[in-house]
Amino acid sequence: MATIISADNDTHFFADVCKNFDYAAQFTQHNPGLLDQIKSCNSVYRFRFPIRRGNGFEVIDAWRVEHSHHQSPTKGGIRYSEMVNEDEVMALAALMTYKCAIVNVPFGGAKGGIKINPKNYTVQELENITRRYTVELIKKNFIGPSIDVPAPDYGSGEREMGWIADTYATMNPGQLDAMGCVTGKPIALHGIHGRREATGRGVAIATRECVSVAEDMAKLGLTPGIEGKKIIVQGLGNVGYYSAKFLADFGGLIVGICEFEGAIYNEDGLDVEAVFQHRKSTGSILGFSGAKKEFKNSGEGLEQQCDILVPAALENQITKDNAASIKAKIIVEGANGPTTPEAEAIFYQKGGIIVPDLFANAGGVTVSYFEWLKNLSHVAFGRINRRFEENSNLNLVNMVEGITGLSLTPLQRATIVKGASELELVNSGLEDTMIRSYHEIREIYKANPKIDTLRTAALVAVINKIAISYQNLGVWP
Ligand code: NAD
Repeated sequence: MATIISADNDTHFFADVCKNFDYAAQFTQHNPGLLDQIKSCNSVYRFRFPIRRGNGFEVIDAWRVEHSHHQSPTKGGIRYSEMVNEDEVMALAALMTYKCAIVNVPFGGAKGGIKINPKNYTVQELENITRRYTVELIKKNFIGPSIDVPAPDYGSGEREMGWIADTYATMNPGQLDAMGCVTGKPIALHGIHGRREATGRGVAIATRECVSVAEDMAKLGLTPGIEGKKIIVQGLGNVGYYSAKFLADFGGLIVGICEFEGAIYNEDGLDVEAVFQHRKSTGSILGFSGAKKEFKNSGEGLEQQCDILVPAALENQITKDNAASIKAKIIVEGANGPTTPEAEAIFYQKGGIIVPDLFANAGGVTVSYFEWLKNLSHVAFGRINRRFEENSNLNLVNMVEGITGLSLTPLQRATIVKGASELELVNSGLEDTMIRSYHEIREIYKANPKIDTLRTAALVAVINKIAISYQNLGVWP
């Protein structure tokens, strides 16, 4: 059994990512020096800066790690969390490299961290912290549309990305591609439709694809298809909320939701939007009238009856202590590193499967790539060809109606004729990416009986891809 990604909040996470890498590397044929280059973090920038608070100052710890330059720019979110540390940022940067490779996004991996609990700061203070963080990156050439492109992660979102874009543009007057320095921006600031929900949508597509393979479901004792599958989601933030929402849209039944204040459960299904609104107005998912059971200890929520568990909060949530109690047959990792190596081994021994983070939550970086392309081309997807497409479709419909003597209803006609919007193009590109990548991983998993997890299969694929990039680049000087 492979030792997979663990994520203690102390200093094991990067070592575990490397251990997983080493385990997968034995199924490849590359030179040890090349493998060492692929797994090492190329640049680790640790810095501290002051902000004004009250009548005094506070010093903030921060990081930016660029894991691999086999492709440029590097890419990865910025985590705002009081738990963040250098080891964690290095591990997450490495995962970004592997994530980009598995979904064929031409970026190297990077990650940032700011050691604060955003809830303890005013909006003005958060803006100051974000802008100063950006300036520190600019000073060291750690940000730019062709250098390193941050995005949202745990504790950050569109608002912070907007501040970063504005700071970068202000410090680089006249730079034509300045808005490509960061993704996950608000739409009005050159963001892209579909980015906010992209990671969760990708998680839902990954889940749907996994459960659609009849042969694999038979081994788990499940029927194929997402329809009616019972699902528990941990975390009702960006990734968790949208994962739950799209899984429900696809026909899944969200039976449990776990947040840090507790968990709720109803075997007949929970209305995700209603739970979200309840939490927004009361500050907690507890007390939701549609729940049949609730748990003050959030961890108990993970252990309730279901087919699929989607951890979408933080690392280190399924450990050797609770793995045996998890009733789900499938874990789809919305978060980065939610399952420890020991837990993964226990879960596979029980006959379950895990759709690994480096693939399952790659929808965010996929759509970030689309946003970056939009920023560099300075035009929204679909703007140039939409009307042309509509006219072509209209001509075709008129011709078919003329030949057959049939006529479509106005609704049918409008649906067929309509050109694709930016959102439709983004969602279609995302869906295509997730489906292709899942089958690429599964084929490697099926082809070699010694490859015992989907995670190892995914890592074998990425090692081979990155190795080819490095071999093509050569070594300079
Ligand atoms: P977020 O800050 O929007 O949401 C996280 C949610 O998890 C919050 O609602 C928080 O209250 C909840 N939470 C925290 N600890 C918990 C616990 N112990 N039990 C239950 N819930 C808990 O963050 P996010 O952007 O949704 O990121 C979640 C995970 O997904 C992280 O691991 C992140 O690295 C990963 N991820 C995010 C993106 C993205 O596009 N945002 C992309 C890929 C991966």
